[in-house]
Amino acid sequence: MNLMHDPNCIFCKIIAGDIPSSKVYEDEDMLVFKDIHPSAPVHLLMVPKRHIPSMTQVTAEDAPLLGRMMAKAPELAQANGCNPYPDGGFRLMVNTGEEGGQEVHHLHIHILGGARPWRKG
Ligand code: AMP
Ligand code: ZN
Repeated sequence: MNLMHDPNCIFCKIIAGDIPSSKVYEDEDMLVFKDIHPSAPVHLLMVPKRHIPSMTQVTAEDAPLLGRMMAKAPELAQANGCNPYPDGGFRLMVNTGEEGGQEVHHLHIHILGGARPWRKG
């Protein structure tokens, strides 16, 4: 069983409302907010409210939640400025571990989109 809340985790602090964020969507299981240092014209972060450190700790129990997050992403992408598929579109990205480029150890899905070029990739 993962901890519900890690007091040292910046995303747990955002979920708790202890650190401000630019929220774009919230329900009982997930929070979506704007990345503070965007790599593309649209850059959102989707986080489960439960503290899961990375994809490495995901279990079968988490599959429905991750599925819901993935299924919600296209609507949030479009609502927040991504251009329509297929000329527009978006990128979903989950960095995992040091070599995967993960800096914040609370599972998050990046939603990146908007007109090119982007700062990264
Ligand atoms: P990652 O490298 O995949 O762990 O991504 C962490 C992301 O969190 C980076 O894109 C940061 O810009 C973003 N980030 C860090 N602190 C905050 C914050 N307080 N509010 C919004 N985004 C943040
Ligand atoms: Zn956390």
